[in-house]
Amino acid sequence: MGTAGGRILVTGGAGFIGSAVCRHLVAGAAERVVNVDKLTYAGNLGSLQMLETQPNYVHYRTDIGDEQAMLEIMRHEKIDAVMHLAAESHVDRSIDGPDVFVETNIVGTVRLLNAALAYRRELRTEARGRFRFHHVSTDEVFGDLPFDGSVFSEDTAYAPSSPYAASKAASDHLVRAWAHTYGLPVVLSNCSNNFGPYQFPEKLIPLTILNALEEKPLPVYGTGANVRDWLHVEDHARALELVIRQGRPGESYNIGARAERSNLAVVEGICDRLDVRRPRGQGRSYRDLITFVPDRPGHDRRYAIDPSKIERELGWRPQVGFEDGMNMTVDWYLANRWWWEPIRHLRYPGMRLGECSRRSA
Ligand code: NAD
Repeated sequence: MGTAGGRILVTGGAGFIGSAVCRHLVAGAAERVVNVDKLTYAGNLGSLQMLETQPNYVHYRTDIGDEQAMLEIMRHEKIDAVMHLAAESHVDRSIDGPDVFVETNIVGTVRLLNAALAYRRELRTEARGRFRFHHVSTDEVFGDLPFDGSVFSEDTAYAPSSPYAASKAASDHLVRAWAHTYGLPVVLSNCSNNFGPYQFPEKLIPLTILNALEEKPLPVYGTGANVRDWLHVEDHARALELVIRQGRPGESYNIGARAERSNLAVVEGICDRLDVRRPRGQGRSYRDLITFVPDRPGHDRRYAIDPSKIERELGWRPQVGFEDGMNMTVDWYLANRWWWEPIRHLRYPGMRLGECSRRSA
């Protein structure tokens, strides 16, 4: 699709990663960024308010499962590439209610693939050659790693554990099938756990920060030994732009920053930062609020990404170290109460914020 310019459709652009991608692309080399997001509980236009006056940005409140509407947006906006991030993304929710994960992540992806294929077939030869469909996926499709230093490569066999991971794995297979069977030029990426600003407060890092500020228990599954490989969301957005512009059609790229941490270490690190920034007084530490809760069913022990392919082929390197990134993230939540307070105090389906039983790494 070329190293600059382009009219890029981002699905799920009001979510955590999608909004970082929109902010990154609008500030950078994109000619136009078209955000299609139906605004589920996880979508928040507040994460994009700085883009509202930008002439090269637009939001459509549309469901990716509405194939005709997606086709019409692609035609109207003369789209050069699709970056597909829209999904149900919370593992705990997928355990409580998997159906919507099947509907959005699998059926929705098929509808979007159909729309992209129909649209591409209408394009003239040159534009057809440029068109790309980039599917954004997760390392969770690869399943569970032991504590032995092994890592996921692009060739690791799929072995998803949770309904969420299985729905993402299914969508990856469907995207590859649309490439092999119908000739749609696709690229895929599988990334590790993201962190940074504007993350919905049901996920581990923001939930821990905000519960601590409200003196609520800080739930940790099991013994907290489960390990995740953390990637700053802005490093991920830079990687995604490289993949869609320079990735080889048919290839997938693993994206991670070689920053493995146990869940307990992440939570303790947040407590230590808050002890400095917002002392509780009387010599008490936020660590006293840590509460171990029964483990999540089927909880994968460890994820770890080998990112050497994207480093070697596309020249990507993470720019934000984990500890610096965590400092910035804690500071961001402290400084941006306007963003999270309305969400935090809103009642939305399935959320029991502040309770010990729900949170995800
Ligand atoms: P998120 O839950 O924060 O955002 C998802 C967005 O998709 C929301 O804005 C929501 O409104 C939108 N959406 C949901 N269903 C839709 C539909 N049917 N039509 C249109 N829009 C819809 O998710 P996220 O954390 O930003 O994740 C984005 C993508 O990256 C997902 O595909 C996820 O699987 C993948 N991913 C995320 C992580 C992570 O750590 N967050 C890690 C690996 C992969």
